[in-house]
Amino acid sequence: MAPIKQHFDYLVIGGGSGGLASARRAAGMYNKKVAIVESGRLGGTCVNVGCVPKKVTWNAATMAETMAEAKDYGFDVEVKNFDWKYFTAKRDAYVKRLNGIYSRNLNNDSVTYLPGRAKLLSPTEVEVDEQTPEGEKLNSKTVYTADHVLIATGGYPVVPTDIPGGEYGITSDGFFDITEQPKKAVLVGAGYISVEFAGIFQALGTETHLMIRGDTFLRSFDPMIQEVMTKHYEEGMGMNIHRRSKQTKVEKNEATGKLTVYYEDINGPAVLEDVDCLLWAIGRKPEVGDLNLPAVGVKQDPKHNTIVVDEYQNTNIPGVYSLGDVSGHVELTPVAIAAGRRLADRLFGGQKEAKLDYTNIPSVVFAHPEIGTIGLNEPQAREQYGDENVKVYKTSFVGMYYALLEHKGPTSYKLVCVGPEEKVVGLHIIGQGSAEMLQGFGVAIKMGATKKDFDSCVAIHPTSAEELVTLK
Ligand SMILES: Cc1cc2nc3c(=O)[nH]c(=O)nc-3n(C[C@H](O)[C@H](O)[C@H](O)COP(=O)(O)OP(=O)(O)OC[C@H]3O[C@@H](n4cnc5c(N)ncnc54)[C@H](O)[C@@H]3O)c2cc1C
Repeated sequence: MAPIKQHFDYLVIGGGSGGLASARRAAGMYNKKVAIVESGRLGGTCVNVGCVPKKVTWNAATMAETMAEAKDYGFDVEVKNFDWKYFTAKRDAYVKRLNGIYSRNLNNDSVTYLPGRAKLLSPTEVEVDEQTPEGEKLNSKTVYTADHVLIATGGYPVVPTDIPGGEYGITSDGFFDITEQPKKAVLVGAGYISVEFAGIFQALGTETHLMIRGDTFLRSFDPMIQEVMTKHYEEGMGMNIHRRSKQTKVEKNEATGKLTVYYEDINGPAVLEDVDCLLWAIGRKPEVGDLNLPAVGVKQDPKHNTIVVDEYQNTNIPGVYSLGDVSGHVELTPVAIAAGRRLADRLFGGQKEAKLDYTNIPSVVFAHPEIGTIGLNEPQAREQYGDENVKVYKTSFVGMYYALLEHKGPTSYKLVCVGPEEKVVGLHIIGQGSAEMLQGFGVAIKMGATKKDFDSCVAIHPTSAEELVTLK
């Protein structure tokens, strides 16, 4: 065994959203001796290949839409070519700055940063295959010991292995390495990541094909969201939606680098040629490969491989905890952060009952337009409470922004209420500004607001949000 170097109160594996938050809370607030092991760039998925660069790219796509719409407001603007290289260089420099800030924050909180790949040798021993922060292997392994070990190693996007040529496609990670704007892109998957990237491509002028297995995308969302969004992408934005489709083969032209995607849908076999970018967004798996979990006895979900935890983020092994995407709960950055902080509060802050409440977590899809959702969707509420106890309020209208525009964007809102007091158990909104709008409504719903509470709040006029406090 490699030499044992140091002992820590808390050793965190994974310097992403959850790991960083938990490590900093334990060291910065509770003065514990903490180390964090990270094999990639600090900040994890969110900062490097997720929320942050995605949102910046979504901003660019939204600007493209706004500039095209500006003409209808009387501006004499011609949308020229989008300089993909200029934009991505600036975006990537911004992300790099964030990596530096994360490193300095660890330093400020006296967290020991151990660049390298971690492997559990026992519940209290972690071997680190060391590397430089830039990822260069140092060919040296060191073992560290700790009273408490947190596994927050996140997940990775999946590429299909059963489709010949599937490896020619990229995933969401590869999206951020694209050096030239694709002229033609095919995205496979009906989840939010697929929908977000498809919207970005289409808004920036790429011929975009979205292949889904069903008739609508965002299948876990309220049916209103699914229908309005799918219709708008297809009819409003002009995206090519391939329903009930299945990819059968991918070929690459080595001379041009272009792909040919063979697929089937309800109309039978079909082919898409001259594809510059094929992006698989068909799901993510937990990053557990190198952790040596079976040898240490850490229980994993037999179907998904995620680490099984209780409501306090305890695994089945005392002193070993897990949270964030690798444990398969709501896979969002603020969820991992909140769970990480609560865990540190419980382990080191004397807050014995500290844990994250996983109910009523607001989430947003940065589509075009945005989607916001919190709580139960209508079918879930009907199943849980019974039809007779559920009352739904909804509205669809043209937001005032679109009043002078030739092409209108959709705005649809739904409130799902239950019981005689009409407690709001779900809110689903699609339309411009939904992302920023949701946070405040989230507070109200988390506090247990009823329809009457919504109605008692005086509307802000003229906004789209006012429709949510005047629903009939
Ligand atoms: C394209 C995309 C867009 C997204 N957009 C949003 C969004 O808009 N809003 C939102 O809230 N969420 C979004 N998410 C989800 C969000 O990024 C994740 O939920 C969040 O990053 C999970 O945090 P985590 O700490 O669990 O894992 P991660 O942030 O993935 O961090 C895990 C870290 O562990 C490291 N690691 C893994 N194994 C080892 C090992 N053996 N040794 C050392 N280090 C290891 C990895 O390198 C990684 O840095 C998005 C995700 C994707 C993919």
